[in-house]
Amino acid sequence: MELFSPSERQRDRIVDVLLPLAIGSAYSYRVPEALELAIGDIVVVPLGTRLMLGCVWPSNDDTRAVDPAKLKAIVRKYEVVPLRPDLVALIKWIADYTVTPPGMVLRLALRHDESPHVGRERTGVRLTDKRPERLTAARTRLIEALADGLIRAKAEAAREAGVSASVIDGLVDDGVLKTVVLPPEPAAETPDPNHARPDLSPAQEQAAAELVAAVEARAFKVHLLDGVTGSGKTEAYFEAVSAAIRAGRQTLILMPEIALTQAFLDRFAKRFGVRPAQWHSAVSSPRRGRTFRGVAAGEVSVVAGARSALFLPFADLGLVIVDEEHDPAYKQEDGVHYHARDMAVVRARLNACPVILASATPSIETEVNARRGRYARLHLPERFSGTRVPRLEPIDLRREGPPKGKWIAPRLAEEMGRTVEAGGQALLFLNRRGYAPLTLCRACGHRIKCPSCSSWLVEHRFRRRLECHQCGYAMPVPAECPHCHAPDSMVPCGPGVERLQEEVAALMPGARTQVLSSDLAGGVERLRAELDAVARGEVDVVIGTQLVAKGHNFPGLALVGAVDADVGLGYGDPRAAERTFQLLHQVAGRAGRAHIEGRALLQTYMPEHPVMQALVAGDRDAFYDREIAAREEALLPPFGRFAALVVSGTDAHAVQSHARALAAASPRAEDVRVLGPAEAPLALVRGRHRWRLLARTPRGFDLSAYVRQWMESAPRARGNLRVDIDIDPQSFL
Ligand code: ADP
Ligand code: ZN
Repeated sequence: MELFSPSERQRDRIVDVLLPLAIGSAYSYRVPEALELAIGDIVVVPLGTRLMLGCVWPSNDDTRAVDPAKLKAIVRKYEVVPLRPDLVALIKWIADYTVTPPGMVLRLALRHDESPHVGRERTGVRLTDKRPERLTAARTRLIEALADGLIRAKAEAAREAGVSASVIDGLVDDGVLKTVVLPPEPAAETPDPNHARPDLSPAQEQAAAELVAAVEARAFKVHLLDGVTGSGKTEAYFEAVSAAIRAGRQTLILMPEIALTQAFLDRFAKRFGVRPAQWHSAVSSPRRGRTFRGVAAGEVSVVAGARSALFLPFADLGLVIVDEEHDPAYKQEDGVHYHARDMAVVRARLNACPVILASATPSIETEVNARRGRYARLHLPERFSGTRVPRLEPIDLRREGPPKGKWIAPRLAEEMGRTVEAGGQALLFLNRRGYAPLTLCRACGHRIKCPSCSSWLVEHRFRRRLECHQCGYAMPVPAECPHCHAPDSMVPCGPGVERLQEEVAALMPGARTQVLSSDLAGGVERLRAELDAVARGEVDVVIGTQLVAKGHNFPGLALVGAVDADVGLGYGDPRAAERTFQLLHQVAGRAGRAHIEGRALLQTYMPEHPVMQALVAGDRDAFYDREIAAREEALLPPFGRFAALVVSGTDAHAVQSHARALAAASPRAEDVRVLGPAEAPLALVRGRHRWRLLARTPRGFDLSAYVRQWMESAPRARGNLRVDIDIDPQSFL
């Protein structure tokens, strides 16, 4: 790769260093005498009065005449793994595509909290022949736990015996225990491809064979692994992972949710004997450091992670998998606006390896690529267990809706009762956290809004307060109306999952209910425990947000009720139909996975809507045919392209006039239409006013280059004004 060809300027001992900052380009520095540097090396450089880390970067401009004597010198090389050419190329590519300063993308690749020191020393303890003079219950437990004479890490010994570290230290001081230096913990153990290979169905076998062949071919290729929920997509792509392990190459598996990752890790361990390395924000910083080094050294062979895992320094990446490729969580909505699925495809191309996109409801973009033959489709048409994907039946809320002030229609309530009586589980799905999405004064109609966002405050009854889902602002539920001061007049409007739980308790007094949403106190640990409890059948009715729509396996789940199947339809969002279809399909797919036939009921005000019709008919292709035709006709993605520019700032007037100035500065181009500026649907977030512009172009147009040119000729954003650029936006808020 030409990135590494020695540049002319190297002879002058000048290199460009990219800093992890929002600045346009790399800065030039002088290289001190004794230092040998290559592109990708991490170095310490002065910037103003500070020292900071940067990366030796390919030079854009070899002809620039600079006098080395005038440049500041690099302080030293930082002893960490350098960025390899593929990662340098990925960062450049993403920066170009997303129209983001490359330093901001570099930051994503350097954000691993790595300490420069290689692994802290770990100490273990072992029992000696000496016995303590003074015995306590804790000391006895510890001695018993170590009676086998084996060495244990201190933390492990403490956990096993249920004692604190000070008990161990006390016995070490008394000579009862001896400390031993342990070798550094390995970043991850190597998965065994032969640990427990299941017998695959013929369809799975065929898909797996193609994937294995692709891994062995060591070439870029995109596969869509397309199969209904429960068809065994995971088992099929595990065969590709096996092939990569056998070939001694690394695999990256991207997952949309941490909660989902947990169940996945156990499955992986069942198949391969050990868990894969994990990479997401909840992993502790020392472990991240270890994983980072292990990945760079090629010792970690499989990483399962969130979108940030894309930027790990793989030594020899041989396979990329994007599970639930349609999931909106793959789009990063702040900082660098990148879509991790699309960038995973880019990374696979740069690394010349195959990529597998797995989904039961592919994104329209991916489906179109598969239909055009650009992606190879591997189809798993049936559930492995042989059960059918649940039938979906509409409940027409106009004709058989619930009584006033209630949200569960009589028919759904009846089915839930019957299901639970027969020993099955029911799941109520409502994508609304909290108790009620709106609090209103009965006397004057005043609605409680967030002081710094244009959104209503959501009542959270468990926490006894009103919260803003945009910025986290919270206040106690007021006793009187803040506007007209009528006492006891504030009433909750509309349902959230907490309110549904109340309704279920009233309908089915004996039933065990559990709300599952990201609000669950106790975080990921607790969530995992509750998901396990549901899987063991310890809950009769689960009431959940989209969190429950994903990958969990609930063997006893027989009935799914979507309380408001229309949520998401009918806003001005071009992806609303797609999202609703995917979410409802996915939720319904939770039912009847093991041995029981599942059912799903959809409460809707628009049963005649094509999305509902396609769901009820179980006709996925009908949905895609229609949606693709509609997008093509309206030149919506992927048949047309968008770039969104959001201007924000604390001064409403300045925001508006800057948005106007931007519009006026848009370069003329025959293929581009600039829409707006208009106030964004979310007009105020965290005290910042927002105006948006949309540029729309035909497919195949170099939108990034256009926007870059636009920004170069546009007036600078001053003060706290900010312009956020989003190429291929997912959200239109
Ligand atoms: P998907 O990823 O398509 O939703 P999974 O891979 O999760 O499907 O498979 C669904 C269920 O069927 C899982 O419990 C899985 O263990 C089981 N399963 C799938 N294929 C096989 C197989 N070949 N042998 C044994 N169990 C399988
Ligand atoms: Zn707010």
